[in-house]
Amino acid sequence: MTKYVFVTGGVVSSLGKGIAAASLAAILESRGLHVTIIKMDPYINVDPGTMSPFQHGEVFVTEDGAETDLDLGHYERFISPKMHKANNFTTGQIYQNVLRKERRGEYLGKTVQVIPHITNEIQEFIVRGAHAAGDPDVALVEIGGTVGDIESLPFLEAVRQFSLRLGIGNFCFIHLTLVPYIASAGQSKTKPTQHSVGELRKIGISPNVILCRADRKIPEDEKAKISLFTNVPMDGVISVWDADTIYKVPKMLHEQGLDDIVCKILDLNPKPADLSAWDDVVHKLENPVDVVNVAMIGKYDLKDSYKSLNEALIHAGIHTGHKVKTTFIEAEELEEHGTDCLKEMDAILVPGGFGKRGTEGKIMAAQYARENDVPYLGICLGMQLAVVEFARHVCGLGGANSTEFNVNTPHPVIALINEWQDISGKKEIRTAKSDLGGTMRLGKQIVPVKPGTMAYEIYGPEVAERHRHRYEVNNSYCDQFEKAGMVISARTVGENLPEIMELPENDFYIGVQFHPEFTSSPRFGHKLFNKFIESAARYRERRQEVLNEAV
Ligand code: GLN
Repeated sequence: MTKYVFVTGGVVSSLGKGIAAASLAAILESRGLHVTIIKMDPYINVDPGTMSPFQHGEVFVTEDGAETDLDLGHYERFISPKMHKANNFTTGQIYQNVLRKERRGEYLGKTVQVIPHITNEIQEFIVRGAHAAGDPDVALVEIGGTVGDIESLPFLEAVRQFSLRLGIGNFCFIHLTLVPYIASAGQSKTKPTQHSVGELRKIGISPNVILCRADRKIPEDEKAKISLFTNVPMDGVISVWDADTIYKVPKMLHEQGLDDIVCKILDLNPKPADLSAWDDVVHKLENPVDVVNVAMIGKYDLKDSYKSLNEALIHAGIHTGHKVKTTFIEAEELEEHGTDCLKEMDAILVPGGFGKRGTEGKIMAAQYARENDVPYLGICLGMQLAVVEFARHVCGLGGANSTEFNVNTPHPVIALINEWQDISGKKEIRTAKSDLGGTMRLGKQIVPVKPGTMAYEIYGPEVAERHRHRYEVNNSYCDQFEKAGMVISARTVGENLPEIMELPENDFYIGVQFHPEFTSSPRFGHKLFNKFIESAARYRERRQEVLNEAV
């Protein structure tokens, strides 16, 4: 029987509930338990796929093609099982389902209400999420939002009801809250935590564990105060201070006995924890042999917008012995001030993106990398723009572009498939009225790789990565590209769409139509990113030799 751990948040958002849940899951996994994690989001959007990266941060894509909350990325980076569509759901999805059932008459004429219909649906979704890939010993359920929000009330009520069904010994409530340090008083303050737990208890939930987030360790006397006011035994009041890397959090929680407490509450007695793989990750992170500077040319200057990508670069550093310093450069800055700022960089990365803004700057970066043999990794849009750049400046196809940015381009080297495949000559262009949500090539696809290419050296005979895009490299231009020196090293089966392009003249110049960042993890890294960082280190050496000669 699957046991459940519910993780709620108090006082403010963005305290790292996802990291805390994922870290506990990682410890439990190291104790030999089969775990999974579910995230419930209280907003009305059906999924975050149509939300701006400025609003919501990155959209994480699962193998089965769901556009989900970025916390699912943390889950995959901390534990072994892959997440599925069912591991993340929103209020929007719950209502969509309930309304569908109501229209089909499934409620047999009853008045459809938040309690019990919405709360029942939430419970069904939790069970479905827990068993999306087998029958775990423990399912952790992260409840998005903050206790006290109107919109998360149905979720809290649902898990309260669910815990009743599960019975004592089969569930545990963890509340993560803020314990701010007030410098002028020289004290950590517990009052917000007391109120937040009070709020929880008002709706019938008594937490078993309090995780106290602060920039520092919480003094014992403050912990005792929290214990007294919240009715949580002292050993269940755990300090979670700011760590210089999130990969230290499993150990931090384990050393304070969190997993033992949770196992005791859940009546489980697994083998002791083995966090050596995490110790290894932290050790390598803290002892790099050298530094490399990677320029990330993007347009969403929000830390969370390129979350998985930033993590993948850190992982590559761990696995190649480098400290990877990523400098975010606004693509529009390049358009205004030119590529001079790239001179200090050891590698250039152009990530995925949507919309025209900044695309010319990204094309300038791709050209600079190609001409100066700077290691280049283009991901999704970054690959498409590398193709545009090659078409314009190597093949002489002036004005080449993606039809996403110019429908009237004389050379639509990137386009929607039906824009070049329609033999009737009538181009069917997606109109503004088409649905934007869920209309992309999404999720994992397995594609053969051409032997003798760098992609083959990295991936071997097959690449299995995740997608999130609408536009494709226009096949009718590929002969021309290949004659001019581009190698298309992987194509989809059937439609024959280019998946990977590379320039063998350069040390490392690769564009991929998929998102490799979603499959990188701290413990196992990712071969494509490792190669990129190794090439960056080589370039750095070459760059320094030139500098030394000049002196
Ligand atoms: N905007 C491009 C497309 O839809 C690229 C998408 C991306 O980079 N994820 O094809």
